[in-house]
Amino acid sequence: MESLMPISRIVGVVPSSWGQESMELTLAALQATCAEAVSPEVVIIGNEEVEARMNLAARSGISRVWQVETPEDIDADEPDAMATLAGEALAQVACAEASSLILTPPGPEGEELAARLAHGLGGHCLGRCLKVRLEDDRIVAERSVWGGRKLISLEVSGGVAVACVRAGKPMLTESADPVDVRKIRVDARAPAAPVLATESSGESLPPVESSKLVISGGRGLNEEGFSMLEQLARSSGGTLGGSLPAVDAGLVPVVRQVGISGKFVSPELYFAVGISGTPQHMAGISPDTRILAINKDPEAPIFSMAEAGVVGEWQELLPEVLGILHDRE
Ligand SMILES: Cc1cc2nc3c(=O)[nH]c(=O)nc-3n(C[C@H](O)[C@H](O)[C@H](O)COP(=O)(O)OP(=O)(O)OC[C@H]3O[C@@H](n4cnc5c(N)ncnc54)[C@H](O)[C@@H]3O)c2cc1C
Repeated sequence: MESLMPISRIVGVVPSSWGQESMELTLAALQATCAEAVSPEVVIIGNEEVEARMNLAARSGISRVWQVETPEDIDADEPDAMATLAGEALAQVACAEASSLILTPPGPEGEELAARLAHGLGGHCLGRCLKVRLEDDRIVAERSVWGGRKLISLEVSGGVAVACVRAGKPMLTESADPVDVRKIRVDARAPAAPVLATESSGESLPPVESSKLVISGGRGLNEEGFSMLEQLARSSGGTLGGSLPAVDAGLVPVVRQVGISGKFVSPELYFAVGISGTPQHMAGISPDTRILAINKDPEAPIFSMAEAGVVGEWQELLPEVLGILHDRE
């Protein structure tokens, strides 16, 4: 049997415009995945707050950082443009040729970038993984499927594989060892996508993915309940989310569905009202997030995952909470 090259590179790819959290999550994924024989590297795409990201990389034990300078006039938040820049950068740092594992930040944007990069580099997309490990010449990824009911193992031997792993916060040292910083410049441009029509969604609340407070409702609520949750979100600077049954019932738009087949959210606080806490729903909430739950069933599984909970009917409790907020205003 032909022997394959051992995996020689593990590279985190982080767009600088995606914020510090993306950097931290990618560094944690690198730490969770890295094998002794391979030194992790980071490719930072873009020119924003690079120093702060370099410092984080150094404190997490990264020995080499590629800083990719990009032209000012490219909209790096546009998925095609970012995938083109990142693909070109990885080709320049020779990852596209080696047996490499590339990790993008966990979350919907990172998953989209992973898929586009794998396609562009002719590699394998492993997608949203629970764990990835290296075994000599193989990359073995663990994924959950069928709404969290099954775990499957995917194996890739040779070539490039791209994955997203959510591993929490990175371990950071107080002081930083010197990092080998290499600057490269990339000027690759994605072909312009044709715009057929643009239509406003009419949404005025922030997206669930970027909010520090997500107030979510489930099957236990009706329209009146969701209207109260929306008022709560507006007066507390949070945003509105929901479970799949609430989306199916038309109570909340599908872009606000939290869970394994919806959005992944990592707010500081997740307020779950009339949500039972199934694995498919909870898979969409970061392990770092604190959960506050209201449910009429004291046995509801959400209470075993919540920091604090109130057993009761939303019809009684939500007006009280809204009243307290109004009194403060
Ligand atoms: C492949 C697959 C993918 C899936 N993806 C997702 C996903 O992305 N997101 C998702 O959410 N689900 C998903 N599901 C569905 C998931 O299995 C559950 O059906 C769903 O999460 C349950 O939503 P829920 O908690 O709102 O409803 P239920 O489980 O029905 O819970 C409703 C809760 O409301 C409480 N309640 C009722 N009345 C009141 C009241 N008056 N006051 C207070 N509490 C009350 C009840 O006690 C109960 O705990 C998926 C399923 C599959 C098979």
